[in-house]
Order: sequence, then structure tokens, then C-alpha cells
Amino acid sequence: MKEYDCIIIGAGIGGLAAGLKLSYSGKKVLVIEKQTVCAGLATTFTRKGFVFESSLHCVDSLGEGGEVREFLEEFGVDKMVEFIELKDFCRLIYPDHDFLVDFNCDNLAASLKKDFPAESKNIDRLFREYKKFFEQFDRFCDLKLPGWIVMLILPFRFPLLIKTSLISVEQFISKFISDPKLASVITDIWRFVGLPPRRLAALYYLLVFKGYYYSHTAYIKGGFMRLFEAIVKKIKEQGSEVRFNTSIKKIIVEGRVVKGVVTDRDEKILSKTVISNANAIETLTELIDDPLLAKNYSQQLARIEKSISAVQVYLGLDIPAKELGMDHFMFSINTTYDHNESFDFSLKQDYQRCSLLLTDHAQIDPSVVPAGKGSILIISFDTFQHWSKFAKEEYRIKKIEVARQFIERVEKYLPGLSKHIEIMEVATPLTIARYGSSPEGAIYGFAQTIPQSGMNRLSQETKVKGLYLAGAWTRPGGGAHACFVSGRDAAELALRYLR
Ligand SMILES: Cc1cc2nc3c(=O)[nH]c(=O)nc-3n(C[C@H](O)[C@H](O)[C@H](O)COP(=O)(O)OP(=O)(O)OC[C@H]3O[C@@H](n4cnc5c(N)ncnc54)[C@H](O)[C@@H]3O)c2cc1C
Repeated sequence: MKEYDCIIIGAGIGGLAAGLKLSYSGKKVLVIEKQTVCAGLATTFTRKGFVFESSLHCVDSLGEGGEVREFLEEFGVDKMVEFIELKDFCRLIYPDHDFLVDFNCDNLAASLKKDFPAESKNIDRLFREYKKFFEQFDRFCDLKLPGWIVMLILPFRFPLLIKTSLISVEQFISKFISDPKLASVITDIWRFVGLPPRRLAALYYLLVFKGYYYSHTAYIKGGFMRLFEAIVKKIKEQGSEVRFNTSIKKIIVEGRVVKGVVTDRDEKILSKTVISNANAIETLTELIDDPLLAKNYSQQLARIEKSISAVQVYLGLDIPAKELGMDHFMFSINTTYDHNESFDFSLKQDYQRCSLLLTDHAQIDPSVVPAGKGSILIISFDTFQHWSKFAKEEYRIKKIEVARQFIERVEKYLPGLSKHIEIMEVATPLTIARYGSSPEGAIYGFAQTIPQSGMNRLSQETKVKGLYLAGAWTRPGGGAHACFVSGRDAAELALRYLR
């Protein structure tokens, strides 16, 4: 029987990144995906000529010099797609302030000082601290030492990495900034991690801040799907295989060593290693064929908090959104300066006060809409528990009602929006759970709280030899950038094991 070096379960970002690295390392890889298309949560869909991103608004570190971009360049994927770098792109709307955020760190610092002159010195101090952290982080990433030595030297050589994984964003920022409005602006990117400043580990905030403001953020011409399809092509070019429409129902384990997988067609496929990009809960409690281990994992994982979910409204418009007043790629609409309060509004389904994020992909890439038309994506955090209690018809009505409320709120900034809607799709936490195979519709895997941060996050290594995890549910965390890193690191673990 044919044996693979590695079987990868799932063609989400983590699975594809792992497949790319392994196949270019000369390994025989088989990627198995249960859907008919790749990319998992990060997939793209088309309705009447409008291309919508099911989740990704933009990807940090995808711009020139960024970590994701360099990873793609290593395998020539960059030659197969066109990158659109985002600059000066977000408008932050607060009750009595309107800020423009530039995605260049120097420009950002200068504009913050202009808006908050009394905090000028504090802004300098904060940006010096950012720089110090990023230097330590880069040195840490360049280390080529065994894990146990890294753990030993970590507190002495990289104290900021430890310190920031033990405090919240709120605690970190309050050491530098006194004006709460400035603190709000500077932490507005909390929404890209899905936890408010009081609960989010400072470490993750800093890494996302680095990804957005220090290395550039980008979009892919034609939609992110082009990038993921290019990766699939590259994997196949190396002689590896990618199989769609096939689900894994068991991971074969013998004496705590992985041996292969069994598909939903009862096909047994042998492999020396398995990387699972399926969520960690499914992998470790349902797929591994070791009931005792599955039971232990089930108890352990039940104690780990999942990240928040979301409601998304996708609008296809008969005119470009710019003509309605969408003067930047993204609008962040806030009814309060306190992001903790904003998060609570989402938890309580207060659709009039929760924060909204608007994205206009057609503004930077008109090819994603029919000629002369436009599109808008509205997203707000929400909970699976709330949406799962509705009966079928009630659910349908609720979806439309929430979308209506969002559109009405957005019309304050884009007057006349409702008269230009050609098509509308609404996704809820149930949609994300169903199509994204994400428990409770979690958008960033396990929540990136302080106790679930850094080295405390679920390890990529499992109690089964040769079985590794890749994606948002494991290290380093959720979001496209982190999932690329996770896939790359899982591949490195598998390569070491194969050696
Ligand atoms: C609404 C929303 C908005 C977001 N916005 C952003 C953003 O703007 N920027 C950003 O960086 N990130 C964003 N994210 C997060 C980002 O999309 C995810 O963190 C990332 O895509 C997760 O990738 P992953 O590697 O964990 O794989 P996943 O996307 O979870 O894919 C896993 C794959 O495994 C497959 N699978 C599962 N079980 C099996 C099985 N048994 N057999 C075979 N295949 C299986 C699934 O079908 C899926 O294709 C957003 C997420 C959501 C939901």
C-alpha cells in the first residue's frame, strides 16, 4: 500500500502553508479537504458577478517585506498573483472624533501627535517601547536553538515577550497613555483579534500591531482565493496531491504513534506523519482513534475558551460605494470610546450600539464587482449561543432584521445606501460554524486571552507521535498571518520527525 510522508487534513491557510513547505522539501504530501474548494474560513464566494471575501478583510504582513510575503516568495507563489498594498486606509469613527489611520508607523505616530498634542511625549515613549518589543521578537524568531534551551534563556534575553504575555492590552497601554480617547484609537485593531483591551493579551496586540503598521498589509487582485488556488497549484507541481470533497473520519493511531487516516469512503491511507488543520476539538476528541486519549483531550479542551463569532452582511451595490461616501477602504464605526463596552454590546446583541467594521474591496480592486458597480462588507461580533436558539423561520427573519439595522446605521455615513442594494447575503455564527467547520462559529480559534496566550496556547505537538496541529486553534494564534506561521511551523515539526 502507498505510504505518504505527510497527510494534511484540511486545506485552510494552515494546511496549505504546511503543504507548500513540505512538498518543496521533497516530501510526498496528500492534502485532504472535505469541501469542494480550498481556503476554509478564508474562502471567497461569488454572487451575480460580485466576488465576496467570506472572512478576510485584509492580511497583515502580506505586503512587501512582511513575514507572509517572504514565505510565499520562498516558493515563487508571489509570481502567480498580484498584491495590492494598503496605505492610509482606515477611517476610525468615534462619537465626536473622526480619525484617519495610516498604515505606516511613522505617519501614524505623527498623525496621533497632531490629534493629541498633549500626549506627544507619551506617544514617543510608547513607540519606543513598540520598537524595543519588535527587536526582541525578531531576534527570538531568528533563534535556531532546541526548544528547551529557548525556554531557559527566554526570561533573560527576551523579557518583553514574557512580560507582554502576562498583561492585558489595557495594562500595557495605560503605562504610556493617559488620554482614554487616544488609548481607544491606538487599540482600535482589537477587532482583528476579537477580544477587547481588558481581556486581550498585550503580546497578541503587539504582534498584530507589528503586522499592520510595521510590515504592510495587502489584498490580492481578484480576491484572496487567487492566492490559495495558486498555493494548491504549487503543491501539485511538486508531485504532491490535493483531494477535495473527501472528509477524514479517523486518524489511525497505534501505541500513541500516528499511522495514517481513514476517509469517509472507508479508504485507509498510510502516512508517516499527519498534520491536522481541522479544528483542534474535532481532531483531538473525534478523529484520533484512541478513546482514552480522546477522553483526556475532551476534558482538557472543554476548559479552554473559544473566540467570539460574528454576523456579516455582504452587499452588492449598483454604484461604487465611494460615490456614497466610502472615502477609505475601511470604516470602523464606534458608538463609545471604550472597546470593552463595545464588546459587551456585541455579547448582548445591542445592534444599535455594537461597533461595525465596513470594508470596500472594490475600491482597491474594481475587478471584484461588475463594471461600474460596488460592494460593501459589514461585520460585527456576535455569539453562537444567541443565534442557535431560533427556529428556522425565526432565524431567517432575525437575519434580515439585523441586516436592516446595520444598513440603517451605516446610512448615516453612506447616505442612500439602502436604495443601491442589488444583492444581499447575511452570514451568522451558524453559517461560520457550518461552512467553516468552526465550533460555535469561533472566528479566531481559541480566544487569545492572557491564560491562553504565547507558550500557554495549545501546542502544535500532540500526545500522538507524528501528529501535529496547524491553524487558528493552536500556536501562535488566529488570523491569516498567524495561520501561515502555524502551517510553516507544523511542517518544520513534521520534517524534524521524518528525519
Ligand atoms: C468572519 C471572519 C472574519 C475574519 N477576518 C479576518 C481578517 O480580516 N484578517 C485575518 O487575518 N483573519 C481574519 N479572520 C480569521 C481567519 O480567517 C482565520 O483565522 C483563518 O482563515 C483560519 O485558518 P485555519 O488555518 O485555522 O483553517 P480553517 O479556515 O479553519 O480551515 C480548516 C479546513 O479544514 C477542513 N476540515 C475540517 N475537518 C475536516 C475533515 N474531517 N476532513 C477534511 N477536511 C476537514 C475544513 O473544511 C477547512 O477547509 C476572520 C475569520 C472570520 C470567520
